[in-house]
Amino acid sequence: MNVSIVIPAYNEAESLPELLQWIERVMLEHSYTYEVIFIDDGSKDTTWDVIEQLSSGNTNVRAIKFQRNYGKSPALNEGFKIAQGEYVVTMDADLQDSPEEIPELIKVLKEGNYDLVSGWKKVRHDNKFTKNLPSKLYNSVTGKMSGIKLHDMNCGLKIYKNQVVKSIEVFGEMHRYIPVLAKAAGFDRIGEKPVIHQKRKYGTSKFGMERFVNGFLDLSTILFITKYGRKPMHLFGLWGSIIFFLGFLITTYLIISKIAWSTGIVNRPAFYIALTTMVLGTQLFLAGFIGELINRRSPDRNNYLVEKTL
Ligand code: UDP
Ligand code: MG
Repeated sequence: MNVSIVIPAYNEAESLPELLQWIERVMLEHSYTYEVIFIDDGSKDTTWDVIEQLSSGNTNVRAIKFQRNYGKSPALNEGFKIAQGEYVVTMDADLQDSPEEIPELIKVLKEGNYDLVSGWKKVRHDNKFTKNLPSKLYNSVTGKMSGIKLHDMNCGLKIYKNQVVKSIEVFGEMHRYIPVLAKAAGFDRIGEKPVIHQKRKYGTSKFGMERFVNGFLDLSTILFITKYGRKPMHLFGLWGSIIFFLGFLITTYLIISKIAWSTGIVNRPAFYIALTTMVLGTQLFLAGFIGELINRRSPDRNNYLVEKTL
């Protein structure tokens, strides 16, 4: 099978029939073999009924219904698990992403031999102040922190080689950082293609301003896990030692000056700094040990992605 199209949908009943028709038209034009995987993320409207109707008698449509609303990342994750196509495309259900882009995305992926190609909503039809501007800031921060230069990291429209989606786990709200997750898994050939973006035709956006706080926290988590997930002591131990050593030096100085010049100890600011740094340093060091203990007991501590064997 050529393409799997994974579409998370939360209260998107009105959009789905139109979206599926459009996808079918494009796939037929290019004579691709394909599957459309809808994930109903616990919708409160008639999304699931619509999906049932659309799939009846249509072998190209597969679907998963969540018991409750888990979020876009879990929806994508479940879709990725069952995707069979050589290429896996993700797109939003709200008709903001155009299926016409799929053949082009496949072309860019193939020609650049990329692991994934991300869409870039160059001209964006969302609210300027709540979406477009903050998103620019977000993309530049993410780019600096992760080393992946994309104009539009969080674009819903992306294409992957099948192996990539089988190698990553998208959980929590990590859908914003799939390229970072992919790079962490060793798939660092990441491309970008400008894509058409449209106004939301039906329904409303599911993401508000809280996405910036959560997004920043998630990015810190990913970067920490990627770098130190398997060796937490290297981070906590290093900083614990440095900070403790600082406290130790100050303490030594205080003791010497007490002996040599009989200066007081508790009435000096340096004393409190020494106290705090030694406690903090010890805490950090212990956090490193606890991290190592947890890591050693994790069932996949020795799971590696093997690319080839001979
Ligand atoms: N979505 C989802 N679960 C959620 C929130 C959103 O599956 O909890 C889906 C939603 O149906 C849409 C896609 O994720 O297909 C993107 O959501 P939305 O269009 O609201 O985001 P925006 O384009 O406003 O950033
Ligand atoms: Mg949208």
